[in-house]
Amino acid sequence: MRDVIVVGGGPTGVMLATELRLHGVDVLVLERATEPTSHGRGGGLHARSLEVLDQRGVVDRFLALGQRYPLDGFFAGIAAAQPEDLDSDHPYVLAIPQTITDRLLTERAAELGAEIRRGCAVVGLAQDDDGVTATLADGTEHRGRYLVGCDGGRSTVRTLLGVGFPGEPTRVDTLLGEMEVSEAPETIDAVVAEVRTTQLRFGAARLEDGAYRLVVPAEGLAGDRGVPPTFEEFRAQLREHAGTDFGVHAPRWLSRFGDATRLAERYRVGRVLLAGDAAHIHPPPGGQGLNLGLQDAVNLGWKLAAAVDGWAPDGLLDTYESERRPVAASVLDNTRAQIELMSLDPGPQAVRRLLAELMEIDGVGRHLLEKVTAIGVRYHLGDGHPLVGRHLRDVPLAHGRLYDLMHGGRGLLLDRTGELSVSGWLDRVDHVVDVDSEADVPAALVRPDGHVAWAGSDEAELGDRLREWFGAPTHRAGGVNDSGGAPPRGAPRVSRSGVVGWSRTDPAVEEEPRGPDATDRPGPVRPAAPRPVLHPDEHGRHRR
Ligand SMILES: Cc1cc2nc3c(=O)[nH]c(=O)nc-3n(C[C@H](O)[C@H](O)[C@H](O)COP(=O)(O)OP(=O)(O)OC[C@H]3O[C@@H](n4cnc5c(N)ncnc54)[C@H](O)[C@@H]3O)c2cc1C
Repeated sequence: MRDVIVVGGGPTGVMLATELRLHGVDVLVLERATEPTSHGRGGGLHARSLEVLDQRGVVDRFLALGQRYPLDGFFAGIAAAQPEDLDSDHPYVLAIPQTITDRLLTERAAELGAEIRRGCAVVGLAQDDDGVTATLADGTEHRGRYLVGCDGGRSTVRTLLGVGFPGEPTRVDTLLGEMEVSEAPETIDAVVAEVRTTQLRFGAARLEDGAYRLVVPAEGLAGDRGVPPTFEEFRAQLREHAGTDFGVHAPRWLSRFGDATRLAERYRVGRVLLAGDAAHIHPPPGGQGLNLGLQDAVNLGWKLAAAVDGWAPDGLLDTYESERRPVAASVLDNTRAQIELMSLDPGPQAVRRLLAELMEIDGVGRHLLEKVTAIGVRYHLGDGHPLVGRHLRDVPLAHGRLYDLMHGGRGLLLDRTGELSVSGWLDRVDHVVDVDSEADVPAALVRPDGHVAWAGSDEAELGDRLREWFGAPTHRAGGVNDSGGAPPRGAPRVSRSGVVGWSRTDPAVEEEPRGPDATDRPGPVRPAAPRPVLHPDEHGRHRR
């Protein structure tokens, strides 16, 4: 029996597999397609996704193959200047074809040892107290302790579970394709500009090699959106809307997409969970779908690994749905709003003009961009410091930076008091201390997904939060309040995780052996020197 079976090797599925492998989880990805798709869909990675990739040490691979663009006009295309001090070290959108994103994510999952099997269409599902059995189209069965459906908007897993997918059906279909053209670029630009004064679902983007990606409204609704349009249908629609087909020829691929908006009623049924488009779909404005799926995967990965490892506190796995479903509901809503604002009818146009005025007010544009880029996401993790529940932006440290300490997907206590301890959780949580830091927050407990679980200085509170998110301590009932072996202040120690700091953690604890399956796992980050705790208000801005 595998630990986890992931159904669907799209961006959500392979990102989840990567996160699970960081924790040594035995994961099998079953993907229906025999080959990676050449169809470009999504084209943008937003700030929070780039942060997540940065936290895992792979963002440079994406930055090298994409183009950075400012976020002006990212909400419904309303021209409004981007606020200068967005709370991220990646305050831009990275334009990168989804085919490349998919490839880089898949390579990373494979590097970490995830097994990805193509040509495996899941058609059946059965679960019992111990695990889940997935049946493939050819009758082969695979069994895992958990199964996650990352199989896209028409998810077989969701259907087999009987989970409802309420929302609004597709009202209009749009055709998308890549092909060569005979017309001159200037002529195409002029025609597109003219057509777009009355039809915003029409567009043309010139590719590096001179070919074009074209978007045009379909004639009606397709019975099966999985069936691509014919080239003749595509040309006919170009002529219908533009009066010319630009001399298109040599099509590379053609596809169609709808504008349905739907949210799964549940994200979990027993040992089966849903993530990515399998859990939520919405039209493309804002470019959020793929980003949402990646962030689902990062929220779910460590929690599922904890359940597999056996240290998950009660209810941890259910926080995946309680945290991520409201985020998806909010994305669906902002997309609905954008669609209305993009209507050319007089009423929505008046609202659009009004919103454009409001976006000049400090805070309004920022709020909307924080939504689209997901850096504004705040999980309801309880009262306390305003940071609690939010992402923690990267910050430079005396030696290195915060995100460099998060490559292994473990929890992290950033501590400038020099008085706190995570002894008892050292197999799950790293401890970084710099008593000389000027940070405003005495200490912050950061979850593996980069969200702050606690901020403060009280050891008892910290112990409660460690138990809440990381389960029972593996030894010493006294937990954080253990009084053993406080070293002189300033004496450097290397924790079991390899993080260097000034800690009063007992050296014996720091040498604590790892869990039974720890040997499978990639080694921890090993920074070379003491580092200060960081604080979001002290960030060096725009590092890149
Ligand atoms: C025109 C367009 C533009 C877009 N632009 C953006 C953008 O700029 N930014 C953005 O964030 N998002 C964008 N999106 C959305 C984005 O493409 C999707 O949200 C994203 O692909 C979802 O990823 P996923 O892994 O959840 O699902 P998918 O990408 O749909 O992957 C699901 C996988 O599961 C496999 N599968 C399906 N059924 C089975 C089965 N029974 N057994 C095994 N495998 C199965 C499929 O073959 C597929 O590989 C856009 C979408 C469209 C249509």
